[in-house]
Order: sequence, then C-alpha cells, then structure tokens
Amino acid sequence: MTTQPKASHFIDGQYVEDTAGEIIEVIYPATGAIIARLHAATPSIIEQALTSAKRAQKEWATWSPTERGRVLRKAAQIMRDRNHDLSVLETYDTGKPYQETSVADATSGADSLEYFGGLIASITGEHIPLGEDFVYTRREPLGVCVGIGAWNYPTQIACWKAAPALACGNAMVFKPSETTPLCALKVAEILHEAGAPAGVYNVLQGYGSVGASLITDARVDKVSLTGSVPTGRKVYAAAADGLRHVTMELGGKSPLVIFDDADLENAVSGAILGNFYSSGQVCSNGTRVFVQKGTKDVFLERLSARLAGVKMGDPQDPDVNFGPMVSDRQRQIVEGFIAKGLEEGATLITGGKRVDRGGFFIEPTVFADVTDDMTIARDEIFGPVMSVLDFETEEEVLARANDTVFGLAAGVFTADLTRAHRMAAGFEAGTCYINTYNDAPVEAPFGGAKLSGVGRENSKAAIEHYSQIKGVYVRMGDLDAPF
Ligand code: NDP
Repeated sequence: MTTQPKASHFIDGQYVEDTAGEIIEVIYPATGAIIARLHAATPSIIEQALTSAKRAQKEWATWSPTERGRVLRKAAQIMRDRNHDLSVLETYDTGKPYQETSVADATSGADSLEYFGGLIASITGEHIPLGEDFVYTRREPLGVCVGIGAWNYPTQIACWKAAPALACGNAMVFKPSETTPLCALKVAEILHEAGAPAGVYNVLQGYGSVGASLITDARVDKVSLTGSVPTGRKVYAAAADGLRHVTMELGGKSPLVIFDDADLENAVSGAILGNFYSSGQVCSNGTRVFVQKGTKDVFLERLSARLAGVKMGDPQDPDVNFGPMVSDRQRQIVEGFIAKGLEEGATLITGGKRVDRGGFFIEPTVFADVTDDMTIARDEIFGPVMSVLDFETEEEVLARANDTVFGLAAGVFTADLTRAHRMAAGFEAGTCYINTYNDAPVEAPFGGAKLSGVGRENSKAAIEHYSQIKGVYVRMGDLDAPF
C-alpha cells in the first residue's frame, strides 16, 4: 500500500497541494521510518478551504435531511467495504495494532456515519400552541464548523465530528493532528465519493498554528476539538472571542474501582482494556485502578499472569496485540512519568522499560502502592501505565475517585447491583461503566465533566451541538399596538 497521499489537503472536492507550506514528515511508529511527506496549510490553502466550506454549506443545508442522510449512509458502506485498507493505513498512521484498527477505527467511523445518516430525517421541530397563535421551531445548522483532532484515533475522530455536523447541514473544515495526517484525507475522499457536494467536508494539514487561525476566522461558527486540556483552554478562549459554539473532548485521569465482590477475571479484563488498549493512548482510560484491600494481591497476581499474553511486534501482523507509542516524543513523556513513579515511591510490579527494537515501543507498566498525591495518580500520562491504589470503603473510594480536576470517565466492578448504581450516580464524570470499561457505541453520549470537556459527541445529544433552534411566532389575528 502506498502511504503517500496524492496531495496534502482535500479541499472543494479534490486533492490540493501548496509546497510552500512547512514540511510534515509522517513516521511509522513501529519502525521510525518516514512513510509520507506532506505540507502544512499556507494562508492561501486556509482561505480556499473556508471559502469552499462557506459556499458549499449554503447549498448542502437546502438538501432534505433524508438526502443528506443517504450520502452519509453510503459513505458508511464504502468505509466498511474498504475496512481492510483503511485499517492498514490507520496502523501506519498511529502504530496501533491491526488487530485493533480492523475492529475499532473505520468500523467506528462507519457506525457514526450510519447512525447520524439514519437519525437526521427523524429530527423535527416542535409546534407550540398559544391559543389561536402558535410558535413552531426549526432546527437549523450552525454553518461552518472547524474540527481539530488528536492523534490517537484519526479516522474515528474525523468521523465522529463529520457525521453529526454534516447530518445537520453544516460544512466542516477538519485539521488532523500533524502526527497522524493520513486517515482524515480518506474520510474526505469517501464522503465525496458517496455524493457529498464539493466543499462540504475539507481536510487541511498543519501544526497548532493552522488550527488557531481557523478558529478565529469570521466565517467559522463552531469549533470541535479533541485534544488535551491545555489546548482546550486555548481553543475555547479563542472561540469565545467570536462567541462561537464549542465541543471540547479533552483529557482525563479516570478512576476504575474494583470491589472485593467483583468477578475477578472481568475486573482484570476491564483494567487491561482501560490501560493497555492502543498502548494506553486513550483519553477515557481508567488509569487510577482502585482495588479493595481484600482483592489487591490476587488482582495483581492475575493481572501479571494475563500480561504474559502481550504480544509486541509489527502492528501490521494480525497476531500482534500491543503496539508502540505514536511518537518518540510521546514515549519520552511516558518514560518521564515512569521515572516520577519510581522516585515518589510507587512499587513497580511489571514493565517500565523501552523495548529493544525499532520504533517507539515501551512495556506495559503496572505500579502498585500508588497514593493519591503521586504525580502518576494525578496527571494524564497517555501511555501504558496503570496505577493501582488500595481502598477500604465505598464512601472513601468515591471521594478519592472524584478528587481530580478531570471528569471524563469512571468505572466500577462489583456484584452488588445497588452499589453499582450508587457509584455511577456519585461519579463526577461524563461517561460511566458498570462491570465493563471503555465501550463507546455511537448510540451513547460520550464526553467529559469538569476539565475534561464541554458538550457531547455521539448519540442524539450530538445533534444539539451541531444545530440551533429557531422559534417562529405566528399571529393568526390582528395585531394591537399602543399607538
Ligand atoms: P493536543 O491538545 O496537543 O492537540 C490536539 C489538536 O489541537 C492537534 O491537532 C493540535 O495540532 C491542535 N492544536 C494545538 N494547539 C492549538 C491551538 N493553539 N489552536 C488550535 N489547535 C491547536 O493533543 P494531542 O494530539 O497530544 O492528543 C492527546 C490529548 O487528546 C490527550 O490529552 C487526550 O486525553 C486527548 N484526547 C481526548 C479525547 C476525548 O474524546 N475526550 C479523545 C482522544 C484524545 P498539533 O498536533 O499540530 O499541535
């Protein structure tokens, strides 16, 4: 497969290049090899994208919701038909194992396109009777939306933003992370192949500065960011200047609470999925694993035994289940946290080292005896590092679980039905799990509380974030005026 795209950007229905833009080298994280060279968007490319989106949106919004939905559903089908190639590309872009990408990326993107493509025609306004008079509401698009993506799920993030935005009649200009710029171009290609008019979905490349100049453009009505909290603060502040709508999907340091009565193997599975899937580069990961004291030893024993099943290697090999970090920089960040964990007195149970092979591999790492004040228990690491903390009572663990500035996700494993729901109600988090972890079906809302975000992606809730309601008052009789 060729990983070099036809050009760096996809604007107004076609690939566009401007070699004056700064070079972006795309690196296969499993080997460190350069697999593509792209150019960051120049002011001229940004102008083309916004002009095209602004023009296209007006026409797209006149299509009936069923017609728009048909395009999205056709795009979903094309994505499914090309799942293999798209998954191989996702693996080159991110280093995530094909074993994961073949079931979690283009498939999740297709689900999103299919769901919003199916939903949109049934979203209608209201009729509000006022005696003879009445008000009716129209649900209208916002206009031009800017999407800015993180590097961990490039196809999924592109689709999670495109699908509700386009379904509602908006146009989008999407900027992927410069670390993983390849997959969103395929999403754009597929949407246009499925019949989206030129300009409805544009992709341009660039570093943070390109995203920053998009946000403040007068033609932009909404910004949807998936990224870290510090970037979220900057983007939110920049969007506020024009009172633009925002969706912020940001970072987390989520708790996963395991009670003594939990099914142990399921709890260990939850902890593995919530810490080591995608080599830990998942925003909603349950990286603070609170284990009740009676279970701690047997939990660590089973976890260590199960970690023997980790198979590292070329992520394109379907038998490999653990890939590298996305970049050398990210690996260095993770190593810094591991050093902090050791320095601050956590017990290293397993892992902690680089793997002696090409690429940016690091071992799955488990720390026990972690306390709430340690850096590894407070900061988002975004790598395969699990912190195990002990607790005794439900009341105590809930207070400690919530003692964080983040609020993206939280999970509980227990056999006690009422306790499970009490915990879910008590967690200060946007997305909670009972006896599972990290499922993200498109039917369910996904997003964060506290510093983890604003707004929700997926589910009917996303419609609220890509549309606005207009109320229309209709008077049936004569109108009195004071003079
Ligand atoms: P960053 O916050 O570094 O970057 C996110 C995106 O924003 C990138 O495309 C980046 O471009 C761009 N950007 C950076 N600065 C600006 C700016 N001033 N104005 C506009 N755009 C800007 O995140 P990462 O890519 O490092 O991704 C990891 C983070 O994303 C983690 O914190 C993780 O938790 C979070 N995340 C959240 C998810 C969620 O749904 N809640 C899902 C996945 C990840 P560039 O890369 O060129 O700097």
